[in-house]
Order: sequence, then structure tokens, then C-alpha cells
Amino acid sequence: MFRDKAIETIDRASLDKLQLLQLKTTFTTALKTRFYEHRFRKTPIKSADDIHSLRDLEKIPFTTKDDLRACYPDGLLSVEKSRVVRLHTSSGTTGMPTVIYHTQADLDNWTELVCRGLTACGVTSCDVFQNMMTYGLFTGGLGLHYGAERLGALVIPAGAGNTQRQLQLMKDFRTTALHATPNYMLHIMLKLDEFNCSLDELSVKKVFLGAEPYTENTRKKIESFYQIEAYNCYGLSELNGPGVAMECVHKTDPHIWEDSYLVEIIDPETGQVLKDGEEGELVLTTLKREATPLLRYRTRDLTRIHTEPCPCGRTHRRIARITGRSDDMLIINGVNVFPSQIEEVLMKRPEVGTNYQIVVDQHESLDRLTIKVELYAKLFEGDIKDLERLRDAMKHDMRSTLLVGARVELHEPGSLPVSEGKAKRVVDLRKEV
Ligand code: ADP
Ligand code: ZN
Repeated sequence: MFRDKAIETIDRASLDKLQLLQLKTTFTTALKTRFYEHRFRKTPIKSADDIHSLRDLEKIPFTTKDDLRACYPDGLLSVEKSRVVRLHTSSGTTGMPTVIYHTQADLDNWTELVCRGLTACGVTSCDVFQNMMTYGLFTGGLGLHYGAERLGALVIPAGAGNTQRQLQLMKDFRTTALHATPNYMLHIMLKLDEFNCSLDELSVKKVFLGAEPYTENTRKKIESFYQIEAYNCYGLSELNGPGVAMECVHKTDPHIWEDSYLVEIIDPETGQVLKDGEEGELVLTTLKREATPLLRYRTRDLTRIHTEPCPCGRTHRRIARITGRSDDMLIINGVNVFPSQIEEVLMKRPEVGTNYQIVVDQHESLDRLTIKVELYAKLFEGDIKDLERLRDAMKHDMRSTLLVGARVELHEPGSLPVSEGKAKRVVDLRKEV
């Protein structure tokens, strides 16, 4: 199913042409902001007339999260305030938030992109769509809300948290589609018994998972537990929010909507543009934004572009599952470790429950990595020797994957801290020393 078949299956040559045209428009709009007006005074590219092909993009400097922070509150506003109808900020996972303004046209375009993604996964006006993401400044709530509403689905703006009420809403209104963080879907698994809810009472068929990195094993765990389809939905507030890239029914990783975003993958160290298929940092340029246009924004998310076409027929390229952020890498005694590698090892094991935490501290002047992991309750009823064997096996797996040693602590279900929004998995105590 397509929302707009012509644009979703557009051939590459036409897409390139469209992108070049839109890039020029974006550049002109960008020059109306204080930030870009100042930046392009001394660069080789000074106006849209200096852009002759998409290759000229490489002559444009990157925009970073720090640039956005320095522009707070309105250094990146390119239209009259009277034309702005909404602002959003990032959730501030890694520091001070950034602000993005939207005109009505910006919001309409974002909504259309979300409609495309939801349609590609079979959401229709017959669905009851329960949105379990935080509403407010965070884009997770309103972003998918308006898309689902425009499709004509019955939208339940549940917001995040309050699991008992979420389950009640699912039962009472026969919810068929959910939007949630993977972390929250894992958390609900533990709560079904407590709130006397059995899966037979639910009508949920699909869930859109996003807002934080997670592994394929986590997706599988959620799908097999709830007996539903889970689709990956990627986005970030600087580039609108959720819906920048969404999977189709084939679950072959998210299509990134290339009529609205120019996609590049760069080497995060050198800034050099990499070829399709090579892993690096995702860099995006907005092609339709009016209020806050961004040129070559460094997302810090690590991924690669798939080269093979998707069976659905959409020509917009797909980005591989985000393996982490270039800035969430932990350096443990000199070795680079990504939290996603740890999750990968943990979620492969059927004994592992739904929550884990990574703690880094210093011990005898060395970095020490501890992984606290919840197991299913029944495992604590058996022989302690089995638990010890399991712990040792996990330690072994960690060492061979991460190339550094890690302590593994086994915990009972529900004993580690939970967050209702994005998961906070890493506690780095070294920074506080
Ligand atoms: P913050 O950077 O403060 O967390 P956002 O709320 O805009 O701000 O979060 C966007 C980030 O969330 C992305 O840059 C990415 O790291 C992460 N993210 C969002 N969706 C996904 C997804 N489907 N898979 C992996 N990571 C995701
Ligand atoms: Zn597809």
C-alpha cells in the first residue's frame, strides 16, 4: 500500500533532479537565518547559484548539534515569527536541548511523511492507534499522532507510562497498533500478570518501535512475546522527529524519505563522505523545511545505506538499524565498546528478561565494566550452580564480542531501575570522579 505511489517509487534520475532543485531552495532559505547568513559570508558557496550539482554539497560545511545549541533560541529561524506555528526541542539525552521551529507547511510535510510510513506498514482508517510516547516538547508524541490521525485511524493519545491504564485502554478500545519505545514494550511484558491482563484480551497487531537504538534480537523478543509485528521507526527532533525513516511491511530496515532529506554517510573522524554500504555517521540536509532549514546536519547516529532494492518497490533508500551514536561509545581501558554490542549479546539468550544496565566505574585505577541483567523469575527457583554457569557463559560471550572483560550480575525481574521514556542504560561513574 502506498500513500503517494508516484513519489515513493520515483526513479533515481528524477529524484536527483528534484533534490538538486530543493537543495537550492533550502540554501536560499537557510541564508535567511542569522547562523547560516554569517557562515556563508566567506565560503566558496555563497548563494544557490553556486550549487550546480548534488556533488557541490560536499563544499558546504557540516552543521553540528553544538551549532544548534549555540543558536538557541532563534539563531536558526528563517521566517517571520508570525509564520511559525509550533516549536519542538530534543529530549536532551546528551546535554542541552536544541530547538526547531515549524511553519504550517513544515508540519503538513512531516505529517505526510508519517502517513507514508504508517501506510507502508498497513495502517488504515480501521486501526485504533495507541500512542504510548511522551507528548509535549519531545517529538515522539505529536509526530506520529498527526500522521495516524490524518490516515483516519482512531488515535488514543495515551502518552508514556501508567502501564495499568495503557492495558485498560488497549482492552476497552481494542487497540490494533501501538507506538512505543522498545524499552517500554519490554517493561509491559513484566506487568501483565500484576494487572491481570492476558494477551488473549488484546487485539494489538503491530507496534512501531523507535526513539532509541535497539537490536534485531530485541525486536524479535517483542514480536514473539506479544505475537505482533514490530516495525522500526527512526527520527530525531532536529530533522522533524519520528518518521524521518520508516520500515515497510518487508521489515528490511527503514526507508528514508529522500524527497525531504538528502542523505550522506560520513566517516565520523575525517568527515569524508563514504560510499553506499559503508558504515559511518548519518548526515542529513532538509529539502523542504521552511522555518529551520538544516544543511548537512551531523546526526551522530551510526548506520549505513543498503544498496539492494526493497521488494516493496519504493526507491527511497534504506538505512540499516542504528548501531549507536558516535558519541555513546564507551572507552573501557582503551577499547571502544558500544552499548548496542552488549545488548546484542544479552538478547541472544532466552534466559535474559527485559531490562539491563551498564555500569562503568574505576577500580584500582582501571576502568571496570559491570553489566547488570534481569533474568526471568523461574531461573531463581532452580539450582544456584545453573545461575553461576549462565553468568560465566555470559562473561565469556562479552569478552569475545567486546574484547574487554566485564562483570555480569544477575538480577530478579523488576529489580533494576526503569524509565518510562527513553531507556537510560549506561551509568558512567568515571565522569563524576
Ligand atoms: P536526543 O538526541 O536528545 O535524544 P531526540 O529525542 O530527537 O533527541 O532523539 C533522537 C535520537 O534517538 C536519534 O538521533 C537516535 O539516536 C535515537 N533514535 C530514534 N529512533 C531510533 C531508532 N528507530 N533506532 C535507533 N535509534 C533511534
Ligand atoms: Zn520497502
